[in-house]
Amino acid sequence: MKIDLHVHAKERSACGESGEEEMLRAAVAYGLDGLVFTDHHRFISLDRLEELNRKYAPFRVFGGIEISVDEGEDVLVLGARDSKLETRDWSYARLFAFVRERGGYLALAHPFRYHDRITVDIDTYPPDAIELHSKNTGACDAPLILAVLERLKLPPICNSDAHRAEHVGVYYNQLAREPGDERELIQILKAGEYTCASMEKRIAAINREVEERERLIRGMIARGQSRDDYRRETGHWPGHYDRVAEGKSYRI
Ligand SMILES: [Zn+2]
Ligand SMILES: [Zn+2]
Repeated sequence: MKIDLHVHAKERSACGESGEEEMLRAAVAYGLDGLVFTDHHRFISLDRLEELNRKYAPFRVFGGIEISVDEGEDVLVLGARDSKLETRDWSYARLFAFVRERGGYLALAHPFRYHDRITVDIDTYPPDAIELHSKNTGACDAPLILAVLERLKLPPICNSDAHRAEHVGVYYNQLAREPGDERELIQILKAGEYTCASMEKRIAAINREVEERERLIRGMIARGQSRDDYRRETGHWPGHYDRVAEGKSYRI
């Protein structure tokens, strides 16, 4: 079963560009078998989840959440549905205890995206996995992530972190067996019964777009133009500019 564990929908994520049904139709068209909506501090309702599962069966839809912790990392959580997770004042240690108490699953999303180190204590509180690839994990960060995975003996997960339907499933996880429900999905992930996979042609197309954009940004930086100029002139998210200014790239 091919599943993308990190997908946003504009119904719940302010940064989302595609609606949940647009995401689901794209995921089906790209050949995925399931996805997890992990909106920022928001769960999809159980009623809506049931409705979408009925409508898109045999495609599977799950509801997780992405939490920005106080220390500045983003954490994906599955199997710990509680409205407390929809609030914004979580330290990583508190979140870790909360999820563990409920038998849930947690994974560090796109580390090194905004920092040159991991800002939470994963040595004391090791997550179940770390995201090695996504639309928002630069290929230039992969060696750093691989070194952490190796040191802590943790498995990678690979997802899209799609905010737009055309990105869903560019990276995904190939599960060894089909989970009956969310509990079983977590068991499969915790047991490491999956492999990371990707859709190479789509990734190459994304990288062509990124290279063109970053060439423009390097030109703006050379001319002394700021991130606000970038936002004003292109209408794009200034995080693109910041990443180039830091000497990194969003090439995936
Ligand atoms: Zn977002
Ligand atoms: Zn995300």
